[in-house]
Amino acid sequence: MNKILILYVFLSGISISAFCQTQVTPCGFDRLTNNSELLEAEAIIRNGIQSLPKNHDIKIIPVVVHVFHEGGSENISDAQIESQILVLNEDFGKLAGTNGDGNGVDTEVRFRLAKIDPNGNCTNGVVRIKSSLTNHKTYERPLLKEVSFWDNQKYLNIYIVKSIPGGTLGYSSFPGGPADEDGLVVRHNYFGTIGTAASSLGRTGTHEVGHWLGLYHTFNNSCGTDVCTDGDYVCDTPPVSTANFSCSPINSCSNDSPDLMDQIENYMDYTPESCSNMFTAGQADRILSTLVNLRPTIWTNSNLIATGCDDAYVAPPVCGVTSNFVSLNPEICINNTVNFLDISLNNPTSWQWYFTGGTPSTSIAQNPQVSYSTLGSFDVKLVVSDGVTSDSITISNYVSVTNPGVGIALPFQENFESNVFPPNGITINNPDGGIAWELDSNASVSPTHSVSLDNLSSTNYGTIDEIILPFLDLSSNASTPYMKFKWAYAKSVSLYSDEMIVQLSTDCGATWNQIYYRSNASLVTGPTQTTPFIPDATQWKQATINLNAYSSDEYVLIKIMNVTDGGNFLYIDDINIGDLTLSTIEMENSSDFKVFPNPSNGTFTITYSKIDGKNSSFEIYSLDGKLIKTIYANNQNVIVNDLSKGTYIIKMREEFDRVGFKKIVIQ
Ligand SMILES: [Zn+2]
Repeated sequence: MNKILILYVFLSGISISAFCQTQVTPCGFDRLTNNSELLEAEAIIRNGIQSLPKNHDIKIIPVVVHVFHEGGSENISDAQIESQILVLNEDFGKLAGTNGDGNGVDTEVRFRLAKIDPNGNCTNGVVRIKSSLTNHKTYERPLLKEVSFWDNQKYLNIYIVKSIPGGTLGYSSFPGGPADEDGLVVRHNYFGTIGTAASSLGRTGTHEVGHWLGLYHTFNNSCGTDVCTDGDYVCDTPPVSTANFSCSPINSCSNDSPDLMDQIENYMDYTPESCSNMFTAGQADRILSTLVNLRPTIWTNSNLIATGCDDAYVAPPVCGVTSNFVSLNPEICINNTVNFLDISLNNPTSWQWYFTGGTPSTSIAQNPQVSYSTLGSFDVKLVVSDGVTSDSITISNYVSVTNPGVGIALPFQENFESNVFPPNGITINNPDGGIAWELDSNASVSPTHSVSLDNLSSTNYGTIDEIILPFLDLSSNASTPYMKFKWAYAKSVSLYSDEMIVQLSTDCGATWNQIYYRSNASLVTGPTQTTPFIPDATQWKQATINLNAYSSDEYVLIKIMNVTDGGNFLYIDDINIGDLTLSTIEMENSSDFKVFPNPSNGTFTITYSKIDGKNSSFEIYSLDGKLIKTIYANNQNVIVNDLSKGTYIIKMREEFDRVGFKKIVIQ
């Protein structure tokens, strides 16, 4: 899988968005406009405008709507979905007598729910999936499409979810991105005009489809200097300084000639739905160029026939159920569980599953969980019915069960000094094919190398990059196992933060538990800067994670994830899993206490800043983990003169929790 780039654009509306975190700060999308990959797609759109077909017909886009829900009101009705399709046609068609009949133009684009699915089955263009993915997390974005995705050269994929982080209403891919991440995600209560979206006019959908067809925000790049080649690259949308959130007339830029008012009526601003009612002729040209040059098959006559969206299509007398299912984890270790998701079409009301080799071997649940206790590959069959029609599907060898074995015994240590990358059984996972974890020699707490992730250059917001450690046997540790590692991070602008997440799996990667999370202030170790962050020795922090809950697990996967939001570099170094105290690579750069001279000839002094009312102690360990002695300190200078030659770890403990480490060498 080699993907170039995906550009996501977000509509935050009046509410605050995780991606566009305030009303006055441009969306993440606006930070992309100088990106070279975007310029490539942009060049195709703009060059295409020079040679648009003279005579062109209405272009119809087949649409599939994937509704993710948990059985609540977010499982919106077919009628609510149809109300959004109606609004798209009113707005893109400037339909007389409707809200879309503003001062703009007919873009000559129309939308129809698909009537034939990719396999030739009858459909109403709606797929319903009962899944907690409806609580949409940024880094789970690809999962929606792994569950349900129709060929984007034939269909516009729209995903309905219950929530999006930060109150974002919806977001869209930009043309030219990776095929299998193409589409829109919209919150259920902003999709359509009835049902849960009764207080909406459906313009979130219009705005996001505008992005999908190659349009920028009208406030893109602020005022710029040239009304045609800056801003939103459309000559007849006057420049806009920052997103408008009000219907009040405003002229925010004075560089245009003649100096026109902001076009607050444009669908691509953030103005309230009640006053947005137009696309311009220039925007219609960009849309047409996008369809001709970047989405050339979706509107063709042959595709309309294939998807049942042509005028001549005649629906069958009965559009019965079509059986289909998926699992996000069909490859498991023995004795683990596969989670099945029903993605059958046309609203079945009963399910009958057959799991060769599974426990249970049959189920009537919609989304069953099935464990497998024998090795091999196994068929899965699903029969669905709506009481009138029924359908069956069998997928051969769908489930694959392998032997887990036993992981590497602790301690596990990796400081990235081997000059082999990735080292030591570590896997670097880069699902989007873009910027990945790399070996870094600019910054390190161990002698010369760390790993880094360049969020500063990454524009593929919301995607994850993973450092996956080899399978580990946590039961091999005599005492409570801990995971420790060092990290360093800075932001590029204060409003955006990347995320660092550590997850652990005890079922061979089928499911993951979050064991550590850092973002914003809890992640930052250096100053916000738009130049690459290179930490000095004082700009590292250490993560310490208690793994006691997993101390009997023999086959554990742990991964460190970066979720990018276009911040700055994240560095990782000195990964250490084993005992809490004992390692040569886990020195805290702690200013809590000092040890000198170091190396010493046998007598050295420990100084520390004593906190009133709190007792401190110093524990001195040999490198093989043996406690040599404990010193209870009463004043701020402790002299030690009774250690033999060797290297020791000194651990400072202050009641009840202030802990630091130093290494001392006695020569
Ligand atoms: Zn937008």
